[in-house]
Amino acid sequence: MCSVIIRTATKFSAAFIPTQSSRKSKSLISAASVHMRKMVHYLTEQRGRPNSTDYRIYLKTSDGKYISPFHDIPLYVADEQDCVVPPKKMKMNGIIFNMVVEVPRWSNAKMEIATKEPLNPIRQDVKKGKLRYVANVFPHKGYIWNYGALPQTWEDPKHTDKETMCCGDNDPIDVCEIGSKVCVTGQVIQVKVLGILGLIDEGETDWKVIAINVEDPDSSSLNSIEDVRKIKPGHLEATVDWFKKYKVPDGKPENQFAFNGQFKDKDFAIEVIKSTHSYWKALVMRKKMKDDEIVCQNSSLCDSPFKCSDEEASAVVETTAEYGEPLPVSPEVDKWHFL
Ligand SMILES: [Mg+2]
Repeated sequence: MCSVIIRTATKFSAAFIPTQSSRKSKSLISAASVHMRKMVHYLTEQRGRPNSTDYRIYLKTSDGKYISPFHDIPLYVADEQDCVVPPKKMKMNGIIFNMVVEVPRWSNAKMEIATKEPLNPIRQDVKKGKLRYVANVFPHKGYIWNYGALPQTWEDPKHTDKETMCCGDNDPIDVCEIGSKVCVTGQVIQVKVLGILGLIDEGETDWKVIAINVEDPDSSSLNSIEDVRKIKPGHLEATVDWFKKYKVPDGKPENQFAFNGQFKDKDFAIEVIKSTHSYWKALVMRKKMKDDEIVCQNSSLCDSPFKCSDEEASAVVETTAEYGEPLPVSPEVDKWHFL
């Protein structure tokens, strides 16, 4: 592979290296190869017992440093330290975003980034002391996409969205990844954004970004929300149906939508993502914790007052329960959910 795009935090802004064997490009290639390391791959570390309230999944860099999946993973893949994205991939996809997978497709456990815990591990949501599972709402099985969040975004609860006239839900922005692969909790994948749905969940703005894994075989043919409609018939309708009804089995009313449940296109989606990225920036730059209780501890944001050392990050994980044998899932859950 002669053509590479290199961008590192310190050395390059962005260098596009052409395939022609001109003297200039040769020297660039040799300079580049010195700094060309494999792309940052993230690792996970499980703590506590799976299927229990003490279970946590922490994220680490490939060299073993603990990070926050909320704050330390760049929103834009191109901003990743030592990022090497082939230009063909960049050209085909436009902006590529990182996505943190919380809930694998077809599963029911509501796994999520714990925004109010140091280093924001992934854990299962707990309601009234019990682990939370979403019901299977006919004809769906669990979550019908790989569901997760875009890192470095935040739906500010103090900000009233001008489109939905509702406040943010105090979480990173949610993503439904519609590729065919079933991902795993804690996996960081690269996605292309296709559109967005404006869910109003119990009076809060809760945007749902529709995206596709750039590694998916269908990725090159999916470039807009209209493409999804054509190439994956029924997907968008099922998505609206799912969000409308998913809390009904818990005794809640059907959810409402902005724009009458119409999906907005890719450009609109990217604007929403950019605004949630700017709210996140303000969040991690503020001087102290506020009543939204978001923990901003991070290991990579040099300008943030919440940046901690590698030792402090390790100490956070060491205080948690060590990994243990998975607990059996409660029979009460089996009554309603096929796991
Ligand atoms: Mg949300």
